[in-house]
Amino acid sequence: MRAMVLETPAPAEQRPLRLVDLPEPTPGPGEILVRVEVCGVCRTDLHLVEGDLPPLRSSIIPGHEAVGRIEAIGPGVRTLAVGDRVGVPWLHSTCGRCEYCRSGRENLCEAKSFTGYSVDGGYAEKMVAQEGYVFPLPADEEDPARLAPLLCAGIIGYRALRAAMPHPGGRIGFFGFGGSAHLALPLASHLGFETVVYSGTPTHAALARELGATEVVLGAADPTPSVDGAVVFAPAGAVVLRALRAVRKGGRVSIAAVHMSPIPTIDYDRLLFGERSLVSVEANTRLDAEEFLTLARRFHLRPSVAVRPLAEANEALLDLREGRVRGAVVLDLRGA
Ligand SMILES: [Zn+2]
Ligand SMILES: [Zn+2]
Repeated sequence: MRAMVLETPAPAEQRPLRLVDLPEPTPGPGEILVRVEVCGVCRTDLHLVEGDLPPLRSSIIPGHEAVGRIEAIGPGVRTLAVGDRVGVPWLHSTCGRCEYCRSGRENLCEAKSFTGYSVDGGYAEKMVAQEGYVFPLPADEEDPARLAPLLCAGIIGYRALRAAMPHPGGRIGFFGFGGSAHLALPLASHLGFETVVYSGTPTHAALARELGATEVVLGAADPTPSVDGAVVFAPAGAVVLRALRAVRKGGRVSIAAVHMSPIPTIDYDRLLFGERSLVSVEANTRLDAEEFLTLARRFHLRPSVAVRPLAEANEALLDLREGRVRGAVVLDLRGA
């Protein structure tokens, strides 16, 4: 099978991913073999490829927004069948026993593993996944590329939205407008929030307007306190300060990033006092995923996607880093 493999992290322009031919993996007990149709390119993949995230293995196939058909099932698999379409997300497994797993916070599991980081992911024609950690997806969706970004960008955006705005109603700010935010915005509108998008990139701001943002603030000027909560999607510490400036008293800022540059000194009197709070979001639980995928179906959330062949994964990552992606970018494995 063809796959894009990372051995040595490097800046995306040095094309760290290499196209190789590998033997097909075999599903073990409780595992399924998936023939990947498409796989979304997430910012986490960029952090992994460029070395912001420490490597866990000497070589890895990235990709954790994979959509495909089950081609074979391993011993003991009961709830899935050959031919089913499934989505393979970031969370590959949890221990089920630690205090986090036992208290509904499996996203914080002490022994969790990740697709495309701890184990090989979806930048390949075939991959294995665990029965209990994949999600059934509509078999009749003709364009699976429209499903892929839901699997991480969408779910994380949903968890971050809830972390910032646990109660319905009010005004929410989005800082950075990429794959995750462009799904969280229509979701927030459907859930009854007013939305304010802060972006320094004109194409992203234009997409936010198209998607019905209540207000779009283009540029880097200091915002005035005007939202009740905010989500920071941009992996830049300085943006966290902008978000804290934008929230009113009692507001929460959630950070939907797996890695971020250092946050500058926070002026407590101006930016945190008034019961403002700052919280990070780490991965997601399977329950988050199920809730989000249900909402995505109900509200017909359709990501805006650019599709590229597998061999262009390095270029896709570079586009993502440079802010040239409008919505999300997805790799097509059919005919890889
Ligand atoms: Zn655990
Ligand atoms: Zn991701």
